[in-house]
Amino acid sequence: MNSTKTHKTICSYCGVGCGMLVGVDAKGTISVDGNPDYPSNKGMLCTKGRNLNYVAQDTTDRILYPEMKWSRNHPLQRVSWDAAFERAAAVFKSIIAKHGPDSVGFYVSGQCLTEEYYLINKLTKGFIGTNNIDTNSRLCMSSAVVGYKKTLGEDSVPICYEDIELADCFLIAGANPAWCHPILYRRLEKHKEENPNVKIIVVDPRKTQTCAGADLHLQILPGTDVILFNAIARRLIDKRKIDVAFIKKHTANFEACKEMAYTLTLKEAAKKCGIPVADIRKAAEYIGNAKKFISMWTMGLNQSVIGVAKNVSLLNLSLLTGQIGKPGSGPFSLTGQPNAMGGREVGGMASLLAAHKNLGNPKHRKEVSDFWGGGEIQAEPGYTATEMFDALDEGKLKAIWIICTNPAVSMPNVKKVERALKKAKFVVVQDISHNSETTKFADLLLPAAGWLEKEGTMTNSERRISYLPKVIDAPGEALPDAEIIWRFAQAMGYTGFDYANSSEVYDEHCLLTKGTEIDISGLSYERLINEGSFQWPVPHKTHKGTPRLFTDRKFFTNDKKAHFNAPSTLYNKSEETDNEYPLILNSGRVRDQWHTRTKTGKVKRLLTHIPQPYLEMNAVDAYLRKIKDGDIAVVKSRRGQVQVKVQLNYDIRESVVFLPMHWGKVLNNDFGRANNLTNDLVDPISKEPDFKYCAVEVSKF
Ligand code: SF4
Repeated sequence: MNSTKTHKTICSYCGVGCGMLVGVDAKGTISVDGNPDYPSNKGMLCTKGRNLNYVAQDTTDRILYPEMKWSRNHPLQRVSWDAAFERAAAVFKSIIAKHGPDSVGFYVSGQCLTEEYYLINKLTKGFIGTNNIDTNSRLCMSSAVVGYKKTLGEDSVPICYEDIELADCFLIAGANPAWCHPILYRRLEKHKEENPNVKIIVVDPRKTQTCAGADLHLQILPGTDVILFNAIARRLIDKRKIDVAFIKKHTANFEACKEMAYTLTLKEAAKKCGIPVADIRKAAEYIGNAKKFISMWTMGLNQSVIGVAKNVSLLNLSLLTGQIGKPGSGPFSLTGQPNAMGGREVGGMASLLAAHKNLGNPKHRKEVSDFWGGGEIQAEPGYTATEMFDALDEGKLKAIWIICTNPAVSMPNVKKVERALKKAKFVVVQDISHNSETTKFADLLLPAAGWLEKEGTMTNSERRISYLPKVIDAPGEALPDAEIIWRFAQAMGYTGFDYANSSEVYDEHCLLTKGTEIDISGLSYERLINEGSFQWPVPHKTHKGTPRLFTDRKFFTNDKKAHFNAPSTLYNKSEETDNEYPLILNSGRVRDQWHTRTKTGKVKRLLTHIPQPYLEMNAVDAYLRKIKDGDIAVVKSRRGQVQVKVQLNYDIRESVVFLPMHWGKVLNNDFGRANNLTNDLVDPISKEPDFKYCAVEVSKF
């Protein structure tokens, strides 16, 4: 008799958010499979997802009980949870009393469940009285958030995955979904196989695996995306391939967009982008002739000092063609993390307020503070991700609480982050694994329950909210993150954190959304468990969810129109190349690794794909430096250097090199650690760092 118990859940890696069936047999052995009934992935899983059972079962690296340093020079020692909460609350209270609430901050993760995100946001903004709560989603999607707000009125992904099978033209910019959003890409690939007339345009300085299925690869120079999108806009206008009726009736500010599009001729734009004029014309022809057009993008646009300009110039193309608010059409940001969307919904960033309310709006702030029953919410945004570590470095921020993320590897200009963490008066790290480099900086280390060990909800890239059940017990004394947060809040003496379970937290979050554009007051754990996943909004208890937004062509702006925006700048001017640093470094992901490898790094099967960091370099650039394939090279930027093995090809543009972002310290040296090199300059509005544009030189070791 098969005694395996099966549970429906969601993959804990990327924002595609695939549905899974997790089996646990009588011996406790865990198996995973794709859930054929889950709409986002229809049973498919990529290699990372397929191997999640090894990660869930291996507890060798787990943090098992709270550990505390009695002073900075003492080693971590095991303590009870009560002692840990007592100490954390005492230190936070004393720092806040002496230096004010803005002297403490929380840095969390797009891998947190929505309930955890909600609670930490409530604690920080509503009770401690600071907006210093930010997340690694700042490094990922914040430029897209601002782009959506400026164009559509709110941070709202308009479309759903089903639209992929309905569209006949795709513009994929600054993304490699074949590796980074594999199951979503499989849907697109299949659609193209079945419908050869479907056109795919890829914009990337590298010829990635996504280009294999493309009709047109625009291999642009890094930092020139705005010029390209403006040039496509100009060509669409010139050729009258725009939807005049839609523009007149449903949009505002068209003239500003047009003026910007006409700043350069097509020939000038092509020269700046380093691509043929004919290819820009071809891209505009594909888009202009499409019946249904989807744009997809991710870090190549977002992670830039001009990330917002890149986003709005791309969004303009959907408005020009009227390709939004109807099946098979629309802009589609591909979220990096599994629950970055849920975090955005609860306002889990320094610049946002819960339930998509506006931090700058006094009425909204009062509504939220009245609802929470804490204190007044500050109007000014708190420290964003890079600002938080700058503030630690400068002594303005005294204590930081880091949840489920590894900034000692993932932040740009990471040497500065190390220095800042050493300077901090008090560092709390709440995580599942000792594999995180950041745990080495902890004064207080708190063991968190992992995926399958706690219940909660997540929202994937298509606004689909799903319930994740608790399937197994956490090892040692590890607790769910939500419980750690509410028990700390209780230790601080705050009322309003007297929860019995995550379901109560979720109900509170749902209630706060009532009457907003993301109203999910019709949702509950009960509905999610019994009826399956829902796409927001779900405004009442019999509502079935909303696959597409703006089908009535009414947008979330005050005038209900979609707004064209003139991008504020054309070029990325973050860092000049010169004779000393003549190459541009681009950083990114590889197929089988995830973030800083704390989980994927321990799965042998995943290491067979790419076991080590490597520098991708054009063979011509290498020849000029007498570097051969497989050589160890030194990569230097204005901030630091790394050694790494070189992989040569002709697929990456000359003058551009690529280094994966996953590797931190390996064997106690900085082999391949990309963020020794990267730049911590940020977009002035979204505050997203410039990971994709860093001047370097490469020489043989
Ligand atoms: Fe998990 Fe993303 Fe792979 Fe789906 S595509 S199985 S969500 S990593």
